[in-house]
Amino acid sequence: MTQAEQSVTTLNGIGAKKAEALARLGLNTLGDLARWYPRAYEDRRKIWPIRQAPEGENVCICAIVAQPPRTSYVRKGLSVTHVTVFDDSSSLALTFFNQPYLSKQLLVGQSYVFYGTLELNGTRRGMVNPVFEQEGSHASTGRIVPVYPLTAGISSRQLAGWIAQALEAMSDTIPDDLPPELRLAHQLPARDWAIRTVHAPASFEELELARRRLVFEELFYLTAGLAQLHQRRQAGGGCLCKGLPTDDFTHLLPYTLTHAQQAALATIFADLSSGKPMNRLLQGDVGSGKTVVAAGAVWLAARSGWQSALMAPTEILAEQHYQTLSALFEGTGIRVGLLTGSMKARKKRDIRERLELGMLDLVVGTHALLSTGVEFARLGLVITDEQHRFGVTQRSALSAKGMRPHVLVMSATPIPRTLALIIYGDLDISIMNERPPGRQEVDTFLIGEDKRERMQGFIRRQVQEGHQAYIVCPAVEESEMEGAAELKNVTAYAKQLQTEVFPDLRIGLVHGKLNAKAKEAAMAAFSAGETDILVATTVIEVGVDVPNATLMVIENADRFGLSQLHQLRGRVGRGRAKSYCVLLSASRSTETRQRLKALCATNDGFKIAEKDLELRGPGDFFGSRQHGLPQLQVADLAGDTRVLAEAKEAAETLLADDPELEKPENQPVLKHIRTLFEENPDIFN
Ligand code: ADP
Ligand code: MG
Repeated sequence: MTQAEQSVTTLNGIGAKKAEALARLGLNTLGDLARWYPRAYEDRRKIWPIRQAPEGENVCICAIVAQPPRTSYVRKGLSVTHVTVFDDSSSLALTFFNQPYLSKQLLVGQSYVFYGTLELNGTRRGMVNPVFEQEGSHASTGRIVPVYPLTAGISSRQLAGWIAQALEAMSDTIPDDLPPELRLAHQLPARDWAIRTVHAPASFEELELARRRLVFEELFYLTAGLAQLHQRRQAGGGCLCKGLPTDDFTHLLPYTLTHAQQAALATIFADLSSGKPMNRLLQGDVGSGKTVVAAGAVWLAARSGWQSALMAPTEILAEQHYQTLSALFEGTGIRVGLLTGSMKARKKRDIRERLELGMLDLVVGTHALLSTGVEFARLGLVITDEQHRFGVTQRSALSAKGMRPHVLVMSATPIPRTLALIIYGDLDISIMNERPPGRQEVDTFLIGEDKRERMQGFIRRQVQEGHQAYIVCPAVEESEMEGAAELKNVTAYAKQLQTEVFPDLRIGLVHGKLNAKAKEAAMAAFSAGETDILVATTVIEVGVDVPNATLMVIENADRFGLSQLHQLRGRVGRGRAKSYCVLLSASRSTETRQRLKALCATNDGFKIAEKDLELRGPGDFFGSRQHGLPQLQVADLAGDTRVLAEAKEAAETLLADDPELEKPENQPVLKHIRTLFEENPDIFN
C-alpha cells in the first residue's frame, strides 16, 4: 500500500466520528485529502494597524490583551465574552459568543493576531467572533488561507490541519503521470509541487501556476476520454442506410426547408449511409425547425429497414411529436407508436410487443423508453430531443438497446462554444442558425405591477384578433422559498383570472402535478384553439409548438434563468403573426433588471446563453450533474477557456499517436481517464 492509500484514520485527531464525516465527502485516504482542493482563499497576509483597517472588510490585526476577558451569561445557552485589545494605533473591542473558555486562552500581556470583519460603531472599532492565534504562529493568519468545501462536523481549519498532515506523510510520493514531453511543451510544473502549493500558496502568482497545472491535467484527461469515446463510436460498422437523395423526403413536406435545414439534412443523410455510426448534435435556436430534420432521419432509416426511437424530456412534448410525426408519415407506410410512463400497462405492453416484433418503425416516448423490457427488433437510429435535459448516460442507455445505432441529439439550448466542447465532446455538431421564412423577432417587454391592467388589456386584444396567449407562473404550490406568498399559485391564479378578469374568455390550465390525461387534454384543447389563454408552469418550457399563440406572459420573471426565459419565449413567434413576450417582475434589484433587460435586447439564443453562463456559472447553467459528465474539481469552464483549448489539443495529439493508449508510457494516462469516468461506466465499455 502506498502512503496515498493509507486511511485517514492514521492521522492525528481523526477518530471514528470524524472519519465518518470525512467519508461523507468521499475522503477515505490520504490521497483523497491531498486532492480535496480549496474552493476559495482568504488573503490574511497583511496585518493592519487598528486605526487604518477598512470598515466592513475581513482583516488581520495584531494586538495585545490588556485585561482578562469578561464573560456574562445572558441566558441558558448564551454567553458573551468581551475583551479589549490594543496595538500602537488604537484599541479594538472583541466580542465572542458562547466561547467562555476563551478567558483561559487569551492571556493578559500576550500578543495575538485576530482575523475577522472590522466593524465601526461611532468611533469604536470592534470584531465579533474573530479567529485568532498567538503572534508568530502563522497557522491561520499571516498567510493565504485556504477555504475548503465542508460537511457538518468538520471545520475548514480542521481540514486544513489534516490535509497538511497528509501531505507531510506523503512527502515525495505524489507521482507525476503526465508524460514529461507534455509537461515541458506546456510549461506545467510538477504535480507534487502543484498539489502542495494549492493547499498552501505563498503568493497568488504561485497559486495561479499551480492551479493551471491541475486544471490542465483535469481537462486533459477529460478531453482525452471524450476523444477516445468519439473514436470508438466511429470505429466499426454502423447501421447502413440507403444512399437516397434528400428530395425523396422533402417532397412529403407542405413547405420548403430553410437552407440550414437542407444542409443539416444532407449531412445526416450522408452520415446514415456512410457505414459508420453517426453521433451528431443538431443545435438550433428555438423555432429553427429541428423536428422535421429528425423526421427526415427517421424516414431514411425506415426506408432502409431500421427502427428509430425518439426520446423527449416531457410527456407533453412526446405526445406532440407523436401527433406531428404520425401526421407527417401518413401514407408513407412508416408506422409510429407512442410510449410514455403514464400509459395503461396494456397499451404499453402492446407497443413493446410491436417494437420487438419489428411492427413499428418509430417509437416516440419519454425516458420510459429506457426501461428494461423495451426491446427493439432492429434499432438503427436513436434521437433525443432537448438533449440538455438528458445526461450522457441516458443517451448511452438507449443506444445500448441496439447494435451501434446512429445517434442524433437535438438541443435548443445554445451552448457557449467552450462548454459545448466538453459536454458534446464526443459528438459532431450541426448548427442551424436560420429560422423559417416569415418569422419575426418576438418583441419583449419588462414591466412592473403598475402595468398589470394594461397587460391584461393587451391579452384581450390578442385574443380578439384570433390569437392565443400563455401565462407562465413559477410554481405549482406555494413553495418553501422566501417570499412564497407572493408567488402566483397557478391553480388559484387561473381561477381568479377566469372569474374576475376574463369571465368571457376560455382559460386552460396545465402544470406538472396534473396526471398525464389531464395534461394531454389541456394541451390538446389549447392546440386546437378551444382555449384562449393557457395558464401554465414551466412544463411547457421545451418544445411545445402552437403556432397560433402570439403572446407569452411570464409572472415573477426574475425567478427564472435567462436561458429558461428564452426557451419559454420560444413558445411564441412560431407562426406568421407578430408575437410578444411580457416579463413581469416586481424586483428592484439593478442586477435582476439588467439580466431581464438582456432578454428584451436580443432574440439571439447564443448571446443569451453566453450572458447566462457569465452570470450564473456552468453549474447552474445545466443544473447539477445534469450533463452526466465527470464532475470537474478544479477547472472552471467559463474562465479556463485558454487552458481548455490547450489541453484538448494536447489530448488529440497524444491519441493520434496512440489511439487506444496501449503504449506502456501512456498507461498512467489511461488509468486517470478510467478513474475520471468511473461513475459513468457505460460510457467506457
Ligand atoms: P424547434 O427547432 O424549436 O424544435 P420545431 O421543429 O418545433 O422547432 O418547428 C417550429 C415550427 O416551424 C413548426 O410548426 C414547424 O412545422 C415549422 N417549420 C419547420 N420548418 C419549417 C419551414 N422550413 N418552413 C415553414 N415552417 C417550418
Ligand atoms: Mg423542438
